[in-house]
Amino acid sequence: MRPPYLLLDIDGVLIPFPDGHGSTPATHARHDVVPAGRSADNPVTVWLNPDHGRLLMDVIRTGLVTPVWCTSWRQDATTLIGPLLGLPTLPYVDLPRPEITTSHPNGYLWKRDHVDAWLGDAPAVWIDDDFTGLDHAWAAERTAKGAPTLLVQPDPNHGLWPGHLTELTTWVSQLPAARAT
Ligand SMILES: [Mg+2]
Repeated sequence: MRPPYLLLDIDGVLIPFPDGHGSTPATHARHDVVPAGRSADNPVTVWLNPDHGRLLMDVIRTGLVTPVWCTSWRQDATTLIGPLLGLPTLPYVDLPRPEITTSHPNGYLWKRDHVDAWLGDAPAVWIDDDFTGLDHAWAAERTAKGAPTLLVQPDPNHGLWPGHLTELTTWVSQLPAARAT
């Protein structure tokens, strides 16, 4: 079995959402970035935790997963966000741009149908803050069909914690293929 893909979301995972008081964790540093298609005098402010780059690199270097951005930042994840965290150029899932007013237009994460087709029968770890119960059922169904699937769901106000990556590496290292190599 190939190494599982590691699908990485950004908003609510690497960029926490402000809490009710409009503040972000003290661990995060402010950056102003200009996404593709946006005017340079109209940047977007993002908050990133420099530790996340190191933690993700520790996982990537194991070779146990194949990292891929899976975020509405699309290519900007690779060109803007990744470099700010010291990450190498990673591929990204070129998500569609549906006209939606909720992230769960059909009761589950809007990215999922595209990701499902993109993955085929490949195993995957997917870190996103926005799964519903239907997404967790989807993951269980994939796993039952022989495509092991782990969903890791950070709290969007806190974002990624080291324990999420420990959960990921523990899960991956227990897959049959990982044990065999
Ligand atoms: Mg998100």
